[in-house]
Amino acid sequence: MKVLKDGKFGKIWKAVVKCKGIKSMDVAGCGAELEVESADLVPMLWYGTHFAHKYAGVKCVQCGVYSAVKDVPDSVWSKVKAKKAVFDGTDESI
Ligand SMILES: [Zn+2]
Repeated sequence: MKVLKDGKFGKIWKAVVKCKGIKSMDVAGCGAELEVESADLVPMLWYGTHFAHKYAGVKCVQCGVYSAVKDVPDSVWSKVKAKKAVFDGTDESI
């Protein structure tokens, strides 16, 4: 089916992410290109000096390594950030 005009839920968000790992997790990604949609995203967690921070990440289906996902729209992120977060190894709170 082809959508001629976006409805209430708009376009389904998708992004292409290269599997390259997250620096603080110290594991290199495999370089695969992944088409990611909102259901694939997981919140990544790190601790700053005073606060915990979250950003969007994805786990590669080919190697199991996490990578960060940039430019996730707020409407997608607001649902993702409620999920169980994965700690990325960064802790500056000490
Ligand atoms: Zn990978």
